Amino acid sequence: MNQEKSIFSKIIDREIPADIIHEDEKCIVIHDINPRARIHLLVIPKKPIPTLFDLGPEDKDIMAHMMLLLPQLATAQGLDGFRTQINTGESGGQEVFHIHIHLLGN
Ligand code: 5GP
Repeated sequence: MNQEKSIFSKIIDREIPADIIHEDEKCIVIHDINPRARIHLLVIPKKPIPTLFDLGPEDKDIMAHMMLLLPQLATAQGLDGFRTQINTGESGGQEVFHIHIHLLGN
């Protein structure tokens, strides 16, 4: 499949700049360019899975890894509470077709 590289894959590959606050073997975390809360992070898997509909059983570790990271990120940002959001599909408000978890806190 000759799918175009997502903006997030370009960030992961350092082809375009972003404020990367965490990186490990499975994911990166950046500040959203258009924050809708005082703290608005995006947790993005390095594997370019387009949407939640495209997840397979082989992705369990990646998804669990990102979920476990959320409270650590929130604590590091000084938050004692936060919201998460995963927009899925065009009708679900998704704009970038590379799975990401929004972490929002004030
Ligand atoms: P979605 O609507 O797909 O769930 O969210 C995509 C998010 O990515 C939006 O909140 C948007 O502001 C953010 N975004 C889009 N392009 C860039 C970019 O180049 N850099 C960063 N840091 N965030 C981006």
